[in-house]
Amino acid sequence: MPSSADPDASKIDDVQLGQCYIGGNWQPLAEADGEQELFNPATGAVLVTVPLAGVADAKQALVAAGEANGKWSQTAPAERGAMLDRIADEFAARRERLIALSTLNNGKLRVEAAIDVDDAIASYRYYADAARALQPREHIGAADDQHQLYRCQVPVGISSLIVPWNFPMVTTAWKVAPALAAGCPVVLKPSEVTLLPELVLGDIASAAGVPAGVLNIVPGGARVGQAMVDNPRVRKVSFTGSNAVGEQVMQNAAAHMHKISLELGGKSPIVVFDDVDLDWAVAQIMAGIFFNAGQMCSATSRLVVADAIADDLYARLKSAREALRVGPGSDDASVMGPLVSPAQFARVQDYMQIAQQENLHCLSGGHALDGKGFFVAPTVYADVPTTSRLWREEIFGPVLVSTRCNSEEEAIALANDSEFGLAATVLSADVERGWRVMNAIDAGAQWLNGEQLVVPAGGWGGLKHSGIGRELGTEGLQAYQESKYIVVPNNAGP
Ligand code: NAD
Repeated sequence: MPSSADPDASKIDDVQLGQCYIGGNWQPLAEADGEQELFNPATGAVLVTVPLAGVADAKQALVAAGEANGKWSQTAPAERGAMLDRIADEFAARRERLIALSTLNNGKLRVEAAIDVDDAIASYRYYADAARALQPREHIGAADDQHQLYRCQVPVGISSLIVPWNFPMVTTAWKVAPALAAGCPVVLKPSEVTLLPELVLGDIASAAGVPAGVLNIVPGGARVGQAMVDNPRVRKVSFTGSNAVGEQVMQNAAAHMHKISLELGGKSPIVVFDDVDLDWAVAQIMAGIFFNAGQMCSATSRLVVADAIADDLYARLKSAREALRVGPGSDDASVMGPLVSPAQFARVQDYMQIAQQENLHCLSGGHALDGKGFFVAPTVYADVPTTSRLWREEIFGPVLVSTRCNSEEEAIALANDSEFGLAATVLSADVERGWRVMNAIDAGAQWLNGEQLVVPAGGWGGLKHSGIGRELGTEGLQAYQESKYIVVPNNAGP
């Protein structure tokens, strides 16, 4: 049983902590692998301490997925679609509860938590339709004058899904929804940091009538993640998280030749040309780095600004930044909430210290905020050399670094001056230039003159070190399918 260390714990009595969801039921841990403190980031208090699941639990979950596999892979696509719609309905019925749990455990603003939940619902609905549209076979054409060529897409098989904490609802939905639509049973490992909103998915699965073993949840740490990769039953691993862990996942998956999708880190640019309205540009820049307290893989954390407007833009950015209200997610007047955990709080402060050691010019912020909770000041460093660690490394917090450019070519070169290639924003009144620059930037998701709009029909994933594969859209579904090409005599067609 979890031990409670804070009166706020009474708010989480309905969450099935210290258990696994396996074979369609909550069950006690087969093995405890240490303990995890779940925090309220707005106060810094421990909400509850829970035992984490162990390797034995991961193995049991994979066995349950294996037992469900034969039947589930043969289910009619329309039935899978109906089930995904019921999951979306159950999410919608718990919307307010999930927002409250995310605000409590992730520190998110209510509006950020609502986006996380609503985008998850949209993903389940999108893949419900995608499941219904699946065809048993596709006629490609004549193979020769006596034969026809067909393609059949089949579910890849048992899928291990490993997710981080920053948008726990939607990151999970981008994996669970297409996997189930394709006909794959899954084992999910949520982040141990944000178990409160994630574990509700087990109750949702039961209420939606997901067959036993089709969706299993193992609330463990790194060893459980490893065990979910290092297992011959598994056919597919989809991982979202840091590059360091992503590399380990890739190495462990290689031993079994698992299919893999990796959604990793970013250090994304926002390029601002000299023909834009400066106050509007400042609003775009701030949204790109301070939303979710900068804890976004796609945060546009490197500003490349035309030299002609740089001084004016910096002045406006500084005053807008200083007017930005930092506070708890439960206060609707807050515009930026706390960081998620003590580890993330320490990490961001480490980078602020590195900035001091590197003598970076701090335009604003650069420190933690006094008082309780994991709050840091939204921070901007101006005219940062591209050799700086803050220019090159993902911080995953509300820290923007900026540099100037003197030409379109230089803007492109600076935007691409990163090992990552996840996202990019371009701000320019000249749409043709916008297209030119976006074509030249190495990033999987890009926005011209707009905020970070992501829709299920699109696609999500990075170039270079930002990952392998795409989630969302048709590619997101194909990530859980294998193709078979079949040649038959002319008279054997359907
Ligand atoms: P993390 O890599 O520390 O952890 C991610 C998940 O992996 C967690 O569930 C963790 O328990 C698990 N894990 C840890 N060690 C493991 C191992 N050896 N084998 C298997 N699983 C293991 O990342 P985090 O701190 O939770 O999340 C932040 C990172 O996620 C950032 O780098 C961010 O850019 C990235 N991210 C990327 C995307 C994207 O779409 N590209 C989206 C969100 C977050």
